[in-house]
Amino acid sequence: MSTFWKHPATVGIAYPLFVAAVSAIASFYIPSLAPMARMIVTLIHFLATDVTLPRWVFWIWLVATVGAIGFVAYMWWDVKRDEASTIPTRYESDILFGLRWRWRITAFGWDDFTAFCPSCDNQLTMNDFQPLITGGSTYVCDSCGRPGRMDEHFIQETAKRAEKEAQRRYRTGGWKDAQKRIEQAK
Ligand SMILES: [Zn+2]
Repeated sequence: MSTFWKHPATVGIAYPLFVAAVSAIASFYIPSLAPMARMIVTLIHFLATDVTLPRWVFWIWLVATVGAIGFVAYMWWDVKRDEASTIPTRYESDILFGLRWRWRITAFGWDDFTAFCPSCDNQLTMNDFQPLITGGSTYVCDSCGRPGRMDEHFIQETAKRAEKEAQRRYRTGGWKDAQKRIEQAK
């Protein structure tokens, strides 16, 4: 054990590389970790000298290093997870104006707004809607029998409103509750 830790290759190459990597990562992600990283560096330099240290110093150093690496890894994972949750690349369905909508977000914009029954996910087309003289229209899902209504006569008009509303939710963060709305509407 002690010969390994004092071997010239360990002292000359492995320690400096390892220490540089750990302290670089630590200082980059968490500035407050920099002092701790410097402490570890000092400790390792100390260990690398020919001074014979009690074994417990090594164990404390090992625990501190593992702890520091674990902490940095956790912070990194936490930051990445936060980033991921703010990029709604998969926001392509929501409940809008009483219907479930699906669409695609492409490089050219938001496309193919299609309406579905909120209960059974049956696709609703123009023919399913009965325009009302008083305004709006009603429908009865031909798959599960669920009735519903729209404020517009034509599904294309509601699709335009749905697109605008989906984009508004995308900007304001309301998209995050889309899955909850989909579950509640069933
Ligand atoms: Zn249905």
